[in-house]
Amino acid sequence: MKEHLINFSAKLQSANFQKTYPLDYCIPVYHAVSNFHLPHLKHIIKYKSEKEFEKDLDILSKNFQFVNWDEFKDFRNGNFKPKKKIALLTFDDGLSEFHDVVVPILERKGIYAINFINPKFIGNTDLMYRCKASLLIERIVQSEKKPLNVFDDIIYNDQFKKLLIRKINAIKYSEPEKLDDLAKNFRESFSDYLIKYKPYMTFEQLKKVTQKGFGISNHGFDHPLYHELNLEEQIRNTSQSYDYLNENDFITESFAFPFTDFGVKREFFEKIFSTKDLFCSFGSAGLKRDSFEKNLQRIPMENGKDTNQILKEEIAYFNLKKLLNKNTIHRK
Ligand SMILES: [Zn+2]
Repeated sequence: MKEHLINFSAKLQSANFQKTYPLDYCIPVYHAVSNFHLPHLKHIIKYKSEKEFEKDLDILSKNFQFVNWDEFKDFRNGNFKPKKKIALLTFDDGLSEFHDVVVPILERKGIYAINFINPKFIGNTDLMYRCKASLLIERIVQSEKKPLNVFDDIIYNDQFKKLLIRKINAIKYSEPEKLDDLAKNFRESFSDYLIKYKPYMTFEQLKKVTQKGFGISNHGFDHPLYHELNLEEQIRNTSQSYDYLNENDFITESFAFPFTDFGVKREFFEKIFSTKDLFCSFGSAGLKRDSFEKNLQRIPMENGKDTNQILKEEIAYFNLKKLLNKNTIHRK
């Protein structure tokens, strides 16, 4: 029902976003851009090809003025008067495609981006747990070509395959041993994968993109799902990453929640904003206001649709919720 309503009202939306976009800022969020098959991302993120990404940028450029981090802060403080509504381009997870693919495109187009990273994974010393899940799912999908070594007599059963994938997708941040055990059983080695494919930027690459003018900032130390942590653990994970960024001269003024800020209480925001030089934090709940005004919601761009469609749907949904007084996230 919700989908139908959004689809229907999105069809009525004009593509003149300067007029129809309801907020004065637009913050898209991406993870990777690649023309290749990336097994560690494939089953968790619908990343875009270079061509699709460039098309997104062209649509955004037509409707918004891209700003860098300093302009963004000035704008929020009322000291920067843009010609159009502004857009701040953001990436999460510090993946190597940012260095290899995204930065060259952005340099050519003169567009700034900030990447929110997890210090734990810099230099490919470990892989985020959802990427491990994606690798295991890829093994299951490819099991006809390369036997899994377990379940080989039942894996051909589609129902069983689906169940196994569902179980793997349900493994939590606090259960890394489950992923490691499965990997052992599937004779899949995460460490070999890290050595061979180097999914994350190295420290040198982070420094290199910084020298080119791009931003590197806080995404938590090792990408937990924040509402599964208690307050103390939330603060610790954020601070550990903050300290690393601080010691290495990256941007400490912002923090983007890994996955989602859903269910994170006001207490956490009050605590991190009182103890750190934080300017703002970022969620990724789409086009929405947040009752904690320094927490800004970003628009996820990796759902298989192009910018025109994404923005039309976000605006339609925003306006529908406005009618019901539900376009602001309230925090207890
Ligand atoms: Zn992330």
